[in-house]
Amino acid sequence: MSAALLEKIQTLKKQRNAVILAHNYQPGEIQDMADFTGDSLGLSVQAAQTDAEVIVFCGVLFMAETAAILSPEKTVLLPDKCAGCPMADMINAQQLQELKDQHPDALVVCYVNSTAEVKALSDYCCTSGNALELTQRLPEDRDIIFVPDKNLGGFIIERTGRDMILWPGYCSTHMRILAEDIAAARKEHPDARVLAHPECRPDVRAIADELLSTGQMLKFVKTSGVNEFIIATENGIIHSLQKQNPDKQFYPTTEKAICPNMKKISLEKVAWALEDMQYQITVPEPVCTQAKRSLDRMLQVIPK
Ligand code: SF4
Repeated sequence: MSAALLEKIQTLKKQRNAVILAHNYQPGEIQDMADFTGDSLGLSVQAAQTDAEVIVFCGVLFMAETAAILSPEKTVLLPDKCAGCPMADMINAQQLQELKDQHPDALVVCYVNSTAEVKALSDYCCTSGNALELTQRLPEDRDIIFVPDKNLGGFIIERTGRDMILWPGYCSTHMRILAEDIAAARKEHPDARVLAHPECRPDVRAIADELLSTGQMLKFVKTSGVNEFIIATENGIIHSLQKQNPDKQFYPTTEKAICPNMKKISLEKVAWALEDMQYQITVPEPVCTQAKRSLDRMLQVIPK
């Protein structure tokens, strides 16, 4: 890693009055350089509370959109314009509108991993950390449409027993984690606890010891008396886990659990983003205000 490049980023950051955010799945050197690391919503909320004029979001497009929705007065930059999320792109506004037309009385809950247009058509947004609590608090006499992740939706149904209309979207990275990978990792590390993300397949969820969002994994490991963990989510989080818990051991389930979009961000691209002030992510009206409403409703039900 070039010290000169890191210095250049720091200089540009000051010149632009910027804050740099890195999602938990980013490459290690990006996490180490960022001002804040965390999950997409937490980062966007944190950035909104700073007096920075520019947000550099080291993540994927829907995350930068969320930051732009919560900080409309700030300039939001995504260092690679092609860093998208296949799951977020599995449902568009027209498809959601058609589904709503089929179930006109249903409430719509969208996972934060969705486009701004889908958020704008939803009643509530949710994160993997608060999805359970949020759906439990919705009126029992209303049907719920849950988009776009069938796995997170399935996890909510399993835990709450509440039926929901699911969109068949999924995270292609979490789908690469197989039950046989967990079994092999358990054989190799019999004392380890298996922590899986609810975006994993049902058979993986069924054999995990804990189902946790990335934020919940970080908290869980810190306070756990256990010293070894098998991590069934995007492998980038192992960097943060190891850094925060140097005496504990973390094992990935498979080397395939790497999100290619998350890894499109590099230190060079962060420097170029600040230099050229690109790629600017904006969410036009009325989508911005409508999408913010679904985020605000979530925060009303479950204050952060
Ligand atoms: S890990 Fe999955 S949900 Fe997250 S950005 Fe990559 S494809 Fe999207």
